[in-house]
Amino acid sequence: MTTRSETERRLVPAGLLDRLPRSGIREIAEFAGDRAGLVHLEYGEPSLPTPEPIRRKVAQAVLERRMVYTPVRGPERLRELIAAKVREVNGYPASADEVFVTNGGTGGLFLALAAVLEPGASVLLPDPGWPNPVGMAHVLGARPHFYRLDPENGFLPDPGDWRVPADCRAVVVNSPANPTGSVFPEEVAAAIADLARRRGLWVISDEVYDQIYFDRRPTAMARLYPEGTISVYSFSKTYAMTGWRLGYLVGPAALLERLEKVAESVASSTSMPAQIAAEAALVEASGEVPAMVAAYRSRRDLAVRRAKELGLYRYTPEGAFYLMVDVSRAGASEEVARRLIEEKSVVATPGSAFGPSAAGYLRISLAAAEEDVECGLVAIAELLSEGER
Ligand code: PLP
Repeated sequence: MTTRSETERRLVPAGLLDRLPRSGIREIAEFAGDRAGLVHLEYGEPSLPTPEPIRRKVAQAVLERRMVYTPVRGPERLRELIAAKVREVNGYPASADEVFVTNGGTGGLFLALAAVLEPGASVLLPDPGWPNPVGMAHVLGARPHFYRLDPENGFLPDPGDWRVPADCRAVVVNSPANPTGSVFPEEVAAAIADLARRRGLWVISDEVYDQIYFDRRPTAMARLYPEGTISVYSFSKTYAMTGWRLGYLVGPAALLERLEKVAESVASSTSMPAQIAAEAALVEASGEVPAMVAAYRSRRDLAVRRAKELGLYRYTPEGAFYLMVDVSRAGASEEVARRLIEEKSVVATPGSAFGPSAAGYLRISLAAAEEDVECGLVAIAELLSEGER
């Protein structure tokens, strides 16, 4: 058997495998390991099952049909259904040739970045933000730069403050946002669109939480800046379909046409059972989305109410299913997250996993069951008050 040190010797020093940051979310999950009796609030994993009509349709199809290669950008009928959803839900015009089916939102983001970044170019990313695009930039040989989401202002960005490098090609925008749950007001979205247009930047708008909002409806960036926006969507969160791995891009047809070469090289196509699931979601299960969103809203309301009662309240998340809890008075977030596991049996993600601006916070997932959310907040409050005694 090949030893670990033999393998290490063969690897390129300071190559991609060394440069790539590890996900802090996976790191804390690994630290928690399989200890018994833990309350898990670290992943954005809906506790609700994939709606039954979707599961039934796929089970039937797998038994009855040949599962074969499909067109690189996804079957025509699915792209037509998606275009209709975008027109209706996201509120901007889209046709089937402006849709590209991808391996989850993650696969969509990677393809979008690959389409617009050349090696050495810069890309602007949110801090705090979902960390995967940082890794994607490294894989593509691009340089990530960050813009701040201000914790003192409900984790909103101020595009007037951004330093845009001369070689910057794109900005990634994520609203409703992970890890904060903030939803950018229309005027913030308009300021980003305005800046991108003036500087000739692509906007890669990560809208995987487009249907999970509780107050104001999120603004689709493509409505404000259609010529320069590539929008990223997913079935993962809306339909509790994280493991099915299906998402899609919406963008200018000429760009998506050229993207076929990239998708063909890295994935060939998405999986046919997942495409069948997506079609069933849009045709048979879209009526179940409001009830799922209502469940997340009730968890958000509970979390905000309990955060207020426990003296942990800072802001109200308006979408997605996360809450950032300020634990800065107890120390660095990695340390606090480890103590929370060891002393209170609760797993939350250290804010540092999402960037330096969140280093004093823990992220808890409100996609977990209500009693787990409640238990997590009480545990954090106890940990903080014990530190002060
Ligand atoms: N974008 C954001 C902001 C996310 O939080 C996630 C998943 O957590 C994704 C994209 C990727 O989602 P998917 O499961 O569709 O790959």
